[in-house]
Amino acid sequence: MILDVQDVVKGYTQGQKRLDVLDKLALQVDKAQSLAILGKSGSGKSTFLSLLGGLDRPDQGKIIVNGKDIASMKESELAKYRAQNIGIVFQQYHLMKTFTALENVMLPLEILKKDQPRKKAMEALEQVGLADRADHFPHQLSGGESQRVAVARAIAPEPKIILADEPSGNLDAATGESVMSMIFDLCKRRSSVLILVTHDVDLAKSCDQVYELNEKRLQLL
Ligand code: ADP
Ligand code: MG
Repeated sequence: MILDVQDVVKGYTQGQKRLDVLDKLALQVDKAQSLAILGKSGSGKSTFLSLLGGLDRPDQGKIIVNGKDIASMKESELAKYRAQNIGIVFQQYHLMKTFTALENVMLPLEILKKDQPRKKAMEALEQVGLADRADHFPHQLSGGESQRVAVARAIAPEPKIILADEPSGNLDAATGESVMSMIFDLCKRRSSVLILVTHDVDLAKSCDQVYELNEKRLQLL
């Protein structure tokens, strides 16, 4: 089992009020495949991805990735897990403004002390068709190009799981589609699990499994 999410509970507390977002949510992924998550705005999709990505922790439950429960990891261990196992593509590209495209892609490789980070980053940029933009800074890139840099950064360390939170949400339809097909392609080629949050029902249907986040849980459609 690559991913085994058991009875995850997550809510937010603001002042006296508690907002329950996820309640006894479960999900199992046993092979490299693509999963889409649909759901209304505010249903908890980004919350769930942030738990899978180790950016936040569940209040209860287990998130077992390759046999290890990330919900019970110490912060230092969690940071390592994140770097080694997870690639994240957000709707906002979250590139470092003062770094070139190449440097942005190199960053996680350097943090992981991978061999030849420059070469590997360049290869990832080639795979998203942006080798000729390697020295551009984020403000010198279009939205689609920025997102492709973000995709290159996510895949370069060869993570087992790619999380994509409405990755085409800020792009025009054609650009969004090309970025998406790139993500599909790269995940397939690298045998990564892809978990894709999207509003686009057609896009969701191109995934191996489609779930809806509804009533605080994931339901297989
Ligand atoms: P989605 O991605 O499906 O649109 P989110 O996971 O972003 O939904 O949010 C789920 C619910 O949790 C929303 O009602 C949102 O307002 C609330 N929420 C999200 N993040 C926080 C936070 N950090 N603090 C308080 N409430 C939050
Ligand atoms: Mg969201």
